[in-house]
Amino acid sequence: MAIADISTLVNLGIRTVNHWIGGRLTASSSGRSGVVWNPATGQAQAMVDFASVEEVDHAVGVAKRAFAEWRATPLSRRAEVMFKLRELVDSNRRRIAEMLTSEHGKTLPDAMGEVARGLENIEFACGIPNLLKGGFSEQASRGIDVYQIRQPLGVVAGITPFNFPAMVPMWMFPSAIACGNTFILKPSEKDPSVSLYVAELLKQAGVPDGVFNVVQGDKVAVDRLLEHPDVKAISFVGSTPVARSIYETATRNGKRVQALGGAKNHMLVLPDADIPMAADAAISAAYGSAGERCMAIAVVVAVGSVADPLVAAIRERMAKIKVGPGLDEAGKDAGNEMGPLITREHRDRVASYVANAASEGATVAVDGRQHDAASNRTGFFLGPSLLDQVQPGMRCYRDEIFGPVLGVVRVDTYDQALRVINENPYGNGVAIFTRDGGAARQFQFDVEAGMVGINVPIPVPVAYYSFGGWKASLFGDLHVYGPEGVQFYTRTKVVTSRWPDPGASQVDLGFPQVR
Ligand code: NAD
Repeated sequence: MAIADISTLVNLGIRTVNHWIGGRLTASSSGRSGVVWNPATGQAQAMVDFASVEEVDHAVGVAKRAFAEWRATPLSRRAEVMFKLRELVDSNRRRIAEMLTSEHGKTLPDAMGEVARGLENIEFACGIPNLLKGGFSEQASRGIDVYQIRQPLGVVAGITPFNFPAMVPMWMFPSAIACGNTFILKPSEKDPSVSLYVAELLKQAGVPDGVFNVVQGDKVAVDRLLEHPDVKAISFVGSTPVARSIYETATRNGKRVQALGGAKNHMLVLPDADIPMAADAAISAAYGSAGERCMAIAVVVAVGSVADPLVAAIRERMAKIKVGPGLDEAGKDAGNEMGPLITREHRDRVASYVANAASEGATVAVDGRQHDAASNRTGFFLGPSLLDQVQPGMRCYRDEIFGPVLGVVRVDTYDQALRVINENPYGNGVAIFTRDGGAARQFQFDVEAGMVGINVPIPVPVAYYSFGGWKASLFGDLHVYGPEGVQFYTRTKVVTSRWPDPGASQVDLGFPQVR
């Protein structure tokens, strides 16, 4: 949107989404802002402040000052705050979900699912006293004990994508804060409001001012976080080119980094699979949230004779998907199954893959551009598309489309299917559909991806495991949330301790030995 249009929005008195620093809303004075759209109507609904370098520095300073007291806060108190936060998020699920639907466009039931999966991570953080227990070795040498403690890093930052504006921050901040760090969230500028609501809930839960902060913005804010000497760690989730560059820059600046990138998730269907079940799963995982999930199934790899009946079963189901706004005019669940895409530009980019597919040699089995919702609505809608006879060299196969477009690659054997999947540069999630336990186990052994589903199309790990892909889907060593999240947000210190009898003390310049 042009600057002139932005000033029109200001004149119309349109809502502005501010920062949250030091426990309160903080308006920006940077003079820069972005537009928050309502994807279901195609109308601008708010503006969001874009932080300046000075505003990021201010937030980091506030978080740094809060750190000393917060890291000294007893574990039991930190756990208590997480329990309280759990209650608050639980009792406000619907409110959070409505905010998600309004700014992201996903349907209300889908948004409720996002909140539920985010909540799991708060529940995990309630167990922080247990999670931070270290090891203790009595009598490592005569009169000497050795033990390991886990300490927080300091100020840590999370930079998050548009597609899960509540859940992905919840992958990060509950563990980060429970471990004793202070946190700065830089949410996606496309759907920023929920971050402020969550900040209010954290405050109500008893999180002291300055422990959780939100800076809204774009690359300017991100770049400053990456170089600020007082930011000790960066958790990033977003597209692969940005993830790679964040990893390179932040590690060069001496920070600990986990940068989760994009995906192209495959669903391998063997000839013995239950076809209706595989078709249901493909539909749910490809078109849920309009395909804007990093764990969406983007490619079905159909082995042998399963391809024709599977494609037929998928097509039959596609015709029944209800596409439309998540909320009706009264703000209630509109009863649709698939909402709009996040922006007009993104919708047009996704549609361009369908437009080009035939010239690449694929068969456009269902063209989502011709769906009623795509032509009759003002929002950023596109119907579901199905591309058959896709080959790995094609652009529609290579690129992460991140929309409601499912490709079908046909192969003759399991080995060919495995080669296709393992040669793909991404390695986030993958699924196999089969009735053969031995084949599934072999696949789990062979496949190069971080998260595997066996007859489960979207294998997002529960919160007491950790989430992360392989290859171009993750830069860094530790996955996000769960036990690896606790490792990421703490550093270990090993203490070697002796309480000797002063009478037995003597000088010994030799290197210490244990026996
Ligand atoms: P994005 O990479 O465009 O943006 C992510 C974040 O980075 C946002 O906060 C954005 O403001 C910021 N950003 C964007 N460009 C930047 C730049 N050049 N320099 C610094 N910061 C920049 O991603 P998106 O479009 O918001 O989200 C969709 C992508 O996220 C998809 O690729 C999807 O696969 C991926 N994703 C991955 C996971 C995962 O767990 N691996 C989860 C969710 C989403």
